[in-house]
Amino acid sequence: MRDRFLPFSPPFIGEEEIEGVVDSLRSGWITTGPKTKRFEAEFSAYLGAPAALAVNSCTAALHTALVCHGIGPGDEVITTPMTFSATVGVIEHAGATPVLVDIEPDTMNISPSAVSEAVTGRTKAIIAVHYGGHPCEMDELQAICTEHCLLLVEDAAHAIPAKYKGRLIGSGENPVAFSFYATKNLTTAEGGMLTGSVDLIEQGVVASLHGMNRDAWKRVDKTGSWRYDIIMPGYKYNMTDIQAAMGLAQLAKLDRMLSRRREIVSRYDEGFKPMSAFDLPVEREDCESGWHLYPLRIRDGALKISRDQFIEELRLRNIGTSVHFIAIHTFSYYREKYGFQPEDFPIANRESNRVITIPLHPGLSDRDVDDVIEAVADIVAQHGV
Ligand SMILES: *Cc1c(COP(=O)(O)O)cnc(C)c1O
Repeated sequence: MRDRFLPFSPPFIGEEEIEGVVDSLRSGWITTGPKTKRFEAEFSAYLGAPAALAVNSCTAALHTALVCHGIGPGDEVITTPMTFSATVGVIEHAGATPVLVDIEPDTMNISPSAVSEAVTGRTKAIIAVHYGGHPCEMDELQAICTEHCLLLVEDAAHAIPAKYKGRLIGSGENPVAFSFYATKNLTTAEGGMLTGSVDLIEQGVVASLHGMNRDAWKRVDKTGSWRYDIIMPGYKYNMTDIQAAMGLAQLAKLDRMLSRRREIVSRYDEGFKPMSAFDLPVEREDCESGWHLYPLRIRDGALKISRDQFIEELRLRNIGTSVHFIAIHTFSYYREKYGFQPEDFPIANRESNRVITIPLHPGLSDRDVDDVIEAVADIVAQHGV
């Protein structure tokens, strides 16, 4: 057994990030400024996105997208219960009604046929979440949106970088929100990015900074002016140059970080395949996952212990884990507001109750990965049926 605890997802920070942050601190410019603009430019160039807006979280990016499309009270937005609460929280923030639909059992992504059945005259948008970095069935979702004139928003918090039919997630005209939270594939400690059409991003710039009609960061420049107008009650969602300094360094090594994630995934696959106790993550033929997560799903009746006990057994063997996700419809706020029962979304409910996510990040050594596999094998040997 390992003698040191293996954390679930520590940030992968090198000297480049540290130097970038120190440079910002010494430069006299610490909030939104030249580095944020460069990060936006390099990020959209990396993806081939029409435009990008750096903000202080993925939650902010999602909310900005809904607000800029005028989604509000009386509107319905369809999304998945197999996500982080922020995806659904922003629908509530906008004053709209979240409509949850079930997922597909293999990828745990939103089911296009379930979406189709849930569309009403009030539906305005769909928020597709690329679970674990595996792209949703975008062509099918886009067809539904085209047919009913709906907005297709993507929560790509896990999907940097990921490809659907050869296209990078975030390279299109529709709004796509990325997260740079500490545990994500690319981190700025806290942060996010909204990609989409030039028109959306121009509106987003205003909505995300107090509703000011021009870039506030230019005001303090010698050529700038003190005069500005407020054209809407905007939000305070801007990214700082300290965050962008980290983001630029992380973006430069994103491809290397993804290759290491892939190597780890293959090693896990090989290690777990001989154990019949688990369903392993899949990658559909026309998709390239961002491999943010490695979910292990315990097969029915395979172990004498519960999923929660399994997590505890791993902790006792010094392996950190997490659960992605506790299904949204089981949280008290949503349960009480919408009267949800666990079985309303039977697939999401089942997967949420049998999934654990194990460490997957570029800082893992082969030895670390083998330690996880050995710990899991040991638990199966001790508690398997
Ligand atoms: C992390 C996460 C978010 C929220 O990201 P923040 O940057 O913390 O706002 C949203 N959706 C999903 C699926 C996430 O995993």
